[in-house]
Amino acid sequence: MPTNRTFTMIKPDAIVDGFTGPIIEQIEAAGFRIVAMKKVHLSMEEAGKFYEVHQERPFYGELCEHMSSNPIIPMVLEKENAIEEFRILIGATDPAKAAEGTIRKQFARSIGSNAIHGSDSDANAAIEGAFFFTPTELK
Ligand code: ADP
Ligand code: MG
Repeated sequence: MPTNRTFTMIKPDAIVDGFTGPIIEQIEAAGFRIVAMKKVHLSMEEAGKFYEVHQERPFYGELCEHMSSNPIIPMVLEKENAIEEFRILIGATDPAKAAEGTIRKQFARSIGSNAIHGSDSDANAAIEGAFFFTPTELK
């Protein structure tokens, strides 16, 4: 995956709360092209595998339960400087600390149910994108 790509998921809380449309609209308005997108319902095991790096953190169980509670919408996005630009667009992990206008500030419920994921590095974006999409789907 080239370095102008990032990976995101709209999380169950935001989908249940009816924010899928507004979130996608803001992503596109910010200049990101949607390379691949689908809706999937992860099992507890699949959510656990995706968030394996966090398995020692105290919130791991809660995180996996939330991410498997209802469907999610994973996407691969493309834009110049995608990783950094997208982290700015979504805001801080805790919506209470997220800047005005960010996606988490507007649509997240809490630090655990925080509406959207954004990759933190090119390497992780490639791994995370490959978790959900085939190489052909990412062409
Ligand atoms: P980010 O998603 O901003 O990169 P992290 O990678 O640190 O944040 O954490 C992954 C996800 O775990 C967060 O998006 C959030 O859903 C959850 N999480 C992080 N910290 C907490 C916490 N203190 N309590 C509950 N859930 C948390
Ligand atoms: Mg992270």
